[in-house]
Amino acid sequence: MSDEVKRNLIAGEWRAGGDAVANINPSDTNDVIGNYAVASIEDVTAAIRAAEDSAADWGLSGIQQRHDILQKASTEIFERREEIGRLLSREEGKTLAEGIAETTRAAQIFGFFAGECLRLKGEKLASVRPGVEVEISREPVGVVGVITPWNFPIALPAWKIAPAICYGNTVVFKPAELVPGCAWEIVEILHRAGMPPGTLNLVNGPGSVVGQAILDSPRVRAITFTGSHTTGSLVAHASVKVMRKFQLEMGGKNPLVVLDDADLETAVDCAVNGAFYSTGQRCTASSRLVVTEGIYARFVEACAERLQKLVVGNALDEVTDIGPVVDDTQLQQDLRYIEIGRKEGAALRVGGELLQRDEPGFYLQPALFTDTTNEMQINRDEIFGPVASVIRVKDYDEALHVANDTEFGLSAGICTTSLKHAAHFRRNAQAGMVMVNLPTAGVDYHVPFGGMKGSSFGPREQGSYAAEFHTSVKTAYMSP
Ligand code: NAD
Repeated sequence: MSDEVKRNLIAGEWRAGGDAVANINPSDTNDVIGNYAVASIEDVTAAIRAAEDSAADWGLSGIQQRHDILQKASTEIFERREEIGRLLSREEGKTLAEGIAETTRAAQIFGFFAGECLRLKGEKLASVRPGVEVEISREPVGVVGVITPWNFPIALPAWKIAPAICYGNTVVFKPAELVPGCAWEIVEILHRAGMPPGTLNLVNGPGSVVGQAILDSPRVRAITFTGSHTTGSLVAHASVKVMRKFQLEMGGKNPLVVLDDADLETAVDCAVNGAFYSTGQRCTASSRLVVTEGIYARFVEACAERLQKLVVGNALDEVTDIGPVVDDTQLQQDLRYIEIGRKEGAALRVGGELLQRDEPGFYLQPALFTDTTNEMQINRDEIFGPVASVIRVKDYDEALHVANDTEFGLSAGICTTSLKHAAHFRRNAQAGMVMVNLPTAGVDYHVPFGGMKGSSFGPREQGSYAAEFHTSVKTAYMSP
């Protein structure tokens, strides 16, 4: 590690700020990845002012300029995917293959929104008044606050920052404290790609201080947030006070329904991937496996067997299937829920124990509970770790009822060979994303992403639907 402190980008300058925090590798806590400057309140104020001051010019910038910047960023991220993917795995703990795949996805997102710059459209309609013309166009919103969680250190910032830039907004970006590395890389790449001073600002630091200062500023005209439900409510309350746009992507308690007629291998693949890959730290993770009686015993047996074969270890080790938990706070939360599950009477079929490896890290054997009911706390709260429960149900109708009986509604999956049940589930699952014979996690980058009920609020992210949040609609009436 070099002694250099990675700085925040404010008004086009790299500023040192106050303190610096160390970025620690969860696979090996002796490994300090780097030190990152923490923005002071003055830094945040300056970043917001710079974003506001540059908003008018940037809003009128040409689409070719915005396209070229996004395309350059896409190309560079793709070319450096192994290096950045390694940094991602080192700071977040997902496996190297997952880190490189996520980095590739970030490159694809920048490429997609580079293309969207060239597809900006409006509408022209006839007026009900003869001789009058009506034109509907989309304009930038202004300063967009981008607040992201730790579990997708590069894809998530990409899918918020790329559309903000594409539609002509300026950005104040506050990444999660645990993963400043990828956030810094993405900002540095965009800065070099040609973002004018003030149009893109990076302010690292704690949510309660740096994030809160963004929420409190009436100059920030829109906030796109992904994270927990608790923080999401803070964003909503603060935004309503100043009448700004906001978009929230929050937690999930996603069901994967497995019916008697499912292909067993497909169902086990979907369950193990959806529940445990990326250490179960995905908002779309299948934490509730809702299984009908006829396949229950075979499914549990096959899942348990598969789980025992998974290699839990250092994220950078090529043989690793499951990396460490992101930090000690999250690990303690996972262990607390495993204890709650036991006390509630659930049977811990496999896993749940801490593991020792050569390096000091936060290693947890993926845990599968059986004999659970949907009323148990482990099936109500988002645990956000490698912990899943199997819920036994009589038939499809009960499975659908259980799947929908949750305050969340992000992703829902079903494994079945019945077209009738697949079609019925697709229509009746209360979730923003429905998967048939696919894991609940793992989505395309060019189509909308988001949930229903307590999982999301506001317009969808990703794909051309992102325009809804990142623009304001203007209706112009013209009489010659
Ligand atoms: P978190 O809510 O603790 O933090 C998210 C971000 O908000 C961080 O940058 C944090 O610093 C910031 N923040 C915290 N307090 C703040 C405040 N008072 N004002 C402004 N910002 C503040 O969430 P987390 O632990 O980083 O992430 C895990 C959560 O994210 C899980 O609930 C997960 O389901 C959710 N998530 C959702 C999606 C989705 O798209 N639905 C995707 C990934 C993660």
